[in-house]
Amino acid sequence: MSDCIFCKIAAGEIPATVVYEDELVIAFDDVSPQMPVHTLIVPKEHYRDIGDGIPDALMGHLFNTVKKVAELKGVASSGYRVIVNTGDDACQTVHHVHVHVLGGAPMNSGSPAL
Ligand code: 5GP
Ligand code: ZN
Repeated sequence: MSDCIFCKIAAGEIPATVVYEDELVIAFDDVSPQMPVHTLIVPKEHYRDIGDGIPDALMGHLFNTVKKVAELKGVASSGYRVIVNTGDDACQTVHHVHVHVLGGAPMNSGSPAL
């Protein structure tokens, strides 16, 4: 998608602080972090949201990347929150499916649910 910001990041056309990358996914720090650790994981191929027919293998790879990112960001043992906003009621603002990984400080009921 030529007008999609996460497609442009995946293609290296827009700079981002890349945490992890392989042939299928790229993980980069959120430009507006809501926690000390706030990293987004996206498939390099464009899917609108989690309900957009993502193949099982890619979906599995996307979510297995969460653990890698948590380890790379140093929150694997302390704990972290994983969020996938989907659609208008969930306030999805970037319509390229992405997994938020949040952590780095204790969370409570007032912590970002994004
Ligand atoms: P959503 O509300 O769609 O679940 O989350 C979109 C996220 O993408 C937000 O947390 C927002 O800060 C982040 N974001 C939007 N544009 C950019 C960008 O150009 N670069 C990065 N790194 N993050 C972005
Ligand atoms: Zn896209």
